[in-house]
Amino acid sequence: MATLKQFTELSGSLYIDGAYCKSAASDSFEVIDPATEAVIGHIADATDAEVDTAIERANQAQRAWNRINMLSRAEQLHEVASNIRKLQPLLAEAMTREMGKPYKETADEVLWCASAIDYYAETARNNQGRIMGSSVDGQFHFTLKEPLGVVVSIQPFNYPLCLLSWQAAAAMATGNAVIVKPSELTSITTLLFMQAFGNLPDGLFQCITGGGRVGARLCESRDTHMVAFTGGIETGKAVARACAENFKPTLIEASGNDPFIVMPSAPLDRAVRGATFAAYLNCGQVCTSAERIYVHDSIYESFVEQLTAAARSLRIGNGLDKVDIGPMVSRRERERFEGVLANAVSEGAKIMTGGKRPEHLPGGWFMEPTVLAEVTPDMAILNNESFGPVAPVCRVADLDEALELANRSSYGLGATVYTTDMNETMRAMREIEAGMVWINAPLLDNDAGPFGGRKMSGMGRELGPEGLETFRQNKLVMIDPGASAQDFWWFPYADEESYPVGRN
Ligand code: NDP
Repeated sequence: MATLKQFTELSGSLYIDGAYCKSAASDSFEVIDPATEAVIGHIADATDAEVDTAIERANQAQRAWNRINMLSRAEQLHEVASNIRKLQPLLAEAMTREMGKPYKETADEVLWCASAIDYYAETARNNQGRIMGSSVDGQFHFTLKEPLGVVVSIQPFNYPLCLLSWQAAAAMATGNAVIVKPSELTSITTLLFMQAFGNLPDGLFQCITGGGRVGARLCESRDTHMVAFTGGIETGKAVARACAENFKPTLIEASGNDPFIVMPSAPLDRAVRGATFAAYLNCGQVCTSAERIYVHDSIYESFVEQLTAAARSLRIGNGLDKVDIGPMVSRRERERFEGVLANAVSEGAKIMTGGKRPEHLPGGWFMEPTVLAEVTPDMAILNNESFGPVAPVCRVADLDEALELANRSSYGLGATVYTTDMNETMRAMREIEAGMVWINAPLLDNDAGPFGGRKMSGMGRELGPEGLETFRQNKLVMIDPGASAQDFWWFPYADEESYPVGRN
């Protein structure tokens, strides 16, 4: 109940210049609990003036923050991480109520935020540039790593705090200010999260709620300097286009359609358990969900049978109860997903289990975990992101065919392969066209390793040292301490270096 009270109190709020304020916006969106369909709050569609105020404050705060020594910055970020850990129960409950996934998943997500912030608090102060061998006697040549300025972080609904933390931690640790535009579907949780950053200077980290107009204004402004976007491909293209206008650097983390290959050498029960997790985690609303399961012909029937049994055993319900799968995030998403399933069936896929709304849950946007068999490579479900609780299983003759099909895609985010054969492991690792490859370890992240996609799944990396570079730029500095005359290359040029008359 205390958490629901926070939804009421934060309704219509923005977080600007270190404080919550009520938006002057006349437009707002309802916040609906996807498990109960109860309206639990509303969020403001921030006005243009509010967006501009946040940008102005962010620029002021960033200039001051960039002057603070790196040890103090690190200490302040560690304090944020500690605040997040203390807020874990509140944030996890709020996230479950607002977007539906089980409490276990939201509680884990909150801890991932803290670990990413601790990681970047330290790694950002490791290395501030590079000294190179001077090309001139007596000079000193080096680079400085500098922040980009004000970073706009545009977030999707599925991992609203973790993905924000990956970006915000690296951005702030490297001296940037951050303005987040959360998804309309997870804005109250994001506003609540701002509490954890209360020890940072006012204006350094702000949250502006609203729809696409708000996101677009932040991207288009000449006073924001980088956009870190996570979301769908079409929105990502709009963001990249807007940024191109000002040559503004962008990180684009877009949709995935990840392959999941199972070979006969893999322990089948483990592969089934891995596939169950990879297909249905967060109700299939994960950018790196297993979306295309390619199984070797010799184990296809057993795999489908065991996966079907595993899907049937999952408990569906309100994420605050003892369940494995919560509802989908919104009525619109469930209807879109039902269309994806209907189309797959019309193309010849066979439903082994699921495929419908659970009868015991008449309210809420629930869907049964679905297994589709007899799926063939040209079906739409294998060529577009489903983003729902479905495991489409396609038969392959061998690893060659599996790899060929895995790469026959415009997406390139992650890929999982189940095998214990070393040759298969090495081939898959090298040949799969994706940003991440998991061998027998689906959907794992590591703060210290780069996350991101290829092809239409995006460009740029977050996490790891690579993710730090995403939020800073290099400045080359050359110092001649003696201000010496460079006779060898300045005016006046020596006569003997002129074009030699009569050479031809
Ligand atoms: P959307 O693309 O619908 O929205 C993402 C964000 O962009 C939202 O905050 C949205 O606001 C905002 N937005 C909408 N229009 C504009 C605009 N013109 N300019 C700037 N911002 C805008 O994604 P979803 O929230 O539906 O998230 C699901 C998608 O995210 C899936 O495709 C998934 O694969 C992808 N994703 C990718 C990840 C990766 O790392 N590669 C990780 C997680 C998810 P509003 O909410 O108001 O519409």
